Amino acid sequence: MAIEHIVIVGGGTAGWMAAAALSRLRKNRELAITLVESEEIGTVGVGEATIPPFVDFQTLLEIDESEMLAAVQGSFKLGIQFVNWGNVGESYIHPFGNYGYQMGGLSFHHIWHHAKSRGDNRPIQVFNAETMAAYFGKFAKTDDMKRDDLPPINYAYHINATAYAAFLRKYAEARGVVRTEGKVADVRLDAETGFVTSIALENGPEIAADFFVDCTGFRGLLIEQALETGYEEWTHWLPCNRAVALPCNRDDGAPPPPFTKATAHKAGWQWQVPLQHRNGNGHVYCDAYMSADEATDILIANIAGKPTADPNHLRFITGRRKKFWNKNVVALGLAAGFMEPLESTSIHLINTGINKLIALLSLDGVNEAQQASFNRLTAKEYEKIRDFLILHYNATRRDDSDFWNYCRTMSVPDSLTEKVELFKMNGQIFREDDELFTETSWAAVMMGQGISMNGHNAMAATLDQAETHKELDEIEKSIRFLVQHMPAHGDYLARYCPAKAA
Ligand SMILES: Cc1cc2nc3c(=O)[nH]c(=O)nc-3n(C[C@H](O)[C@H](O)[C@H](O)COP(=O)(O)OP(=O)(O)OC[C@H]3O[C@@H](n4cnc5c(N)ncnc54)[C@H](O)[C@@H]3O)c2cc1C
Repeated sequence: MAIEHIVIVGGGTAGWMAAAALSRLRKNRELAITLVESEEIGTVGVGEATIPPFVDFQTLLEIDESEMLAAVQGSFKLGIQFVNWGNVGESYIHPFGNYGYQMGGLSFHHIWHHAKSRGDNRPIQVFNAETMAAYFGKFAKTDDMKRDDLPPINYAYHINATAYAAFLRKYAEARGVVRTEGKVADVRLDAETGFVTSIALENGPEIAADFFVDCTGFRGLLIEQALETGYEEWTHWLPCNRAVALPCNRDDGAPPPPFTKATAHKAGWQWQVPLQHRNGNGHVYCDAYMSADEATDILIANIAGKPTADPNHLRFITGRRKKFWNKNVVALGLAAGFMEPLESTSIHLINTGINKLIALLSLDGVNEAQQASFNRLTAKEYEKIRDFLILHYNATRRDDSDFWNYCRTMSVPDSLTEKVELFKMNGQIFREDDELFTETSWAAVMMGQGISMNGHNAMAATLDQAETHKELDEIEKSIRFLVQHMPAHGDYLARYCPAKAA
């Protein structure tokens, strides 16, 4: 059956990202796209830290970066600072971008480790531009420096999620997406095929379509409530199941840091996402180890300014939908699954879901091969990210609470055990199936949380040592030069994308 009408149900970040991207399919053809959302139900209202591929999403949509950032009170993000994870009092940065660069086909951390074994005591962080810029609160883009001998700067954004959805709504509506306000009361299925044929709005019309995108958040109105797709739960490995969010103002005058901060507490962790006019804050925790009142008290005691809203309490179950594409429904965003906001991967998974959907979608109809590919590729993406997240909880020396004792001693997937064992032995990290996180990401978190490399690739010793030493010096020097010449992050925002007062 040809696809002439696509209905997106849900107008949170997922719904409007899908609407904006799919609106581009309307160019030069008849394709109706409707987005249904309910103001009464509202959105989840959190999800403000992103990772670098999100920058590419804006580019693909030909969105003007400074205009978008001004509209969403956005700031730049060079990585995440993790505090109290390896142990209380410790801190490290997981940066975007790489440590150094490959030499002789070897990843930089092998070269660094070999140099270290020969007495070079420089920490690996001095070989990463994003880490050093983050430490000094600086920001610039690669193109701003107008030199091609300096390392590139990899960045993402912090965004006001509600303002971003509103920004994309304008974009999508300008390209012909029709928004319908209303609460979906019923989802109708074809008796023979089980395909969704229409949605019925409470006190409103029935909307028929050929293809549906379920962006209804945790409810999974179409993918789960109507199609009963099933959910694979990962609470054994990712036990946090609650969050309390509480934004605060930035009246202390301190400039917004160019990084997200993730501070571990006794039964979870707290995020700080600095926007231009406020900080997004929240405490993710496990209700088997902490009450909502205690989690809220800890959050209030650890935020930098006055709260600008009431605490928003959220519940979730970590895991993923058994199928992300089922019959003529694709689930995106929280309707597809949720794995913890720790590495800001949810909006990214919306983005990659949209990319795959556009690549696989045929307006001639739906077939098994599309669904199988979408589901297999997405499941792999989720699993790779899951392992990386588990690492943060499991690789800890914390023994100050029942929660950390559980995380430190829980069984983990074999795929993760293998990864950690290889790294310990000789620093080897295999990046499999186009997984999202790079060797630098894995090395940063493993070393940051106290997993040591006990050796390195044997080929490191075969490189010309004097030449290698010179290159290390040059990398360090060029990063120092770059960071010295960058403006302060706050000054950059004020010049490039100042937001109107909130
Ligand atoms: C605590 C927490 C922190 C997070 N932090 C991050 C982060 O830092 N970075 C990141 O990438 N991601 C983060 N996420 C995930 C991120 O918030 C989501 O991926 C993102 O907001 C997308 O949500 P959504 O659009 O899927 O769902 P929602 O925002 O819940 O939107 C659902 C939409 O469906 C509509 N709807 C539902 N039912 C009906 C109905 N019956 N009829 C009509 N409409 C309906 C609602 O009105 C709404 O418009 C976080 C999530 C949580 C829980």
